[in-house]
Amino acid sequence: MNQFDIFFDYKHIWHPYSSMINPIPSYCVKSAKGIYLKLKNGKNIIDGMSSWWSAIHGYNHPILNKALKKQIKKMSHVMFGGITHPSAIALCQQLISLTPKKLDCIFLCDSGSVSIEVAMKMLIQYWQSLGQKRRLFLTIKNGYHGDTFAAMSVSDPENSIHKIYNNLLPKNLFANTPKSSFHKNWNTSDIISFKEKIEKNSLKIAGVILEPIVQGVGGMNFYHPTFLKEIKILCDYYRIPLIFDEIATGFGRTGKFFAFEHANVVPDILCLGKAMTGGTITLAATLSSRHIANTISESNVKCFMHGPTYMANPLACAVANANIKILKTNEWKTQVSDIESQLSKNLLPLINHPYVTDVRILGAIGVVECSRSVNMFLIQKFFVKNGVWIRPFKNLIYIVPPYIINTYALKKLINVIIEALDDNSLFI
Ligand SMILES: *Cc1c(COP(=O)(O)O)cnc(C)c1O
Repeated sequence: MNQFDIFFDYKHIWHPYSSMINPIPSYCVKSAKGIYLKLKNGKNIIDGMSSWWSAIHGYNHPILNKALKKQIKKMSHVMFGGITHPSAIALCQQLISLTPKKLDCIFLCDSGSVSIEVAMKMLIQYWQSLGQKRRLFLTIKNGYHGDTFAAMSVSDPENSIHKIYNNLLPKNLFANTPKSSFHKNWNTSDIISFKEKIEKNSLKIAGVILEPIVQGVGGMNFYHPTFLKEIKILCDYYRIPLIFDEIATGFGRTGKFFAFEHANVVPDILCLGKAMTGGTITLAATLSSRHIANTISESNVKCFMHGPTYMANPLACAVANANIKILKTNEWKTQVSDIESQLSKNLLPLINHPYVTDVRILGAIGVVECSRSVNMFLIQKFFVKNGVWIRPFKNLIYIVPPYIINTYALKKLINVIIEALDDNSLFI
């Protein structure tokens, strides 16, 4: 690894949401262990992002590594068409045991976005089986469901990163985002917009899709659980299936194993991803009710028409199993609630900072909403120089640290955020 390699990367390799002309330079990570990323120059920085919500138990985890090694000795991959294998079966048994009884059939796929495509395709086929051509999906503004086309079509149409493709995307329905936040009182008027949309289009809507409680990249909002309850009542009344996207929130991040548990509302389809393999290999899952699966299977087509080449990759399934085994010790509960208490103690007071408009905390998620946008290049440099890895976007500085983070390291993350807020040069 030399300077030339970094230059090669800069010149030839796309990074997420980046440019090929003068991109913001990437930092080279040589290795990672626990809560630390080790940079090329040997410096260890504290990870505040869990590699986008996924490395919940930290990097290079001995139990996860062991599961991978054990599986690789047997086989890294085998096609899933006409073949099954023990790791996939074990994983699906785990997923069924962890989710509500209603969710009974599992489709394993490659990534979060694909699990959303799968969920939406399932509902289109579901309605076709019932002899109806339903194409519309209803969601709320400020959502984010991924970067593939169907997923983009239900992500926020105005302020999202997908605005550029607007003309190409199927036109779906967007109700207003509830204003009642998680910790405040429920305002009954918050359901009006959604109610109007579902009433008016009830015979055209194939499904409702939502991120339960926490809206991620669409704005890092935490909304009131009653909103989900009201939505469930409306979906039941109009017999419209409900999809929950728990790709970011699943596996404990919000303080409950699944975010929908905050509202006690069970969806008809559930999408999982990100933390499922503890941040090791891409894997996602779409779980559905038996009713939906059977309706699709009883149609003329008889089959659900999707089947990725690397479906149920054994390495990914094996490591997901190990990840779930760690979660089943329930240690995550104290870890997440300790993080939540410390964020409440040390991050929440930032609400009084002159350039902060809101501070939001839920489980192991801390969000500082600023009155101005960050300068990505400078703030990233600042964070790394100060020994932390935090990747804000727009005016949002947020942390989703690994559950294993200790008090000292979390304090450090928070202190560096405070220092950044006081440095005018890091903002636009
Ligand atoms: C990350 C994310 C996705 C997309 O998952 P990928 O694995 O990046 O395709 C979808 N929905 C939510 C809520 C996410 O956070």
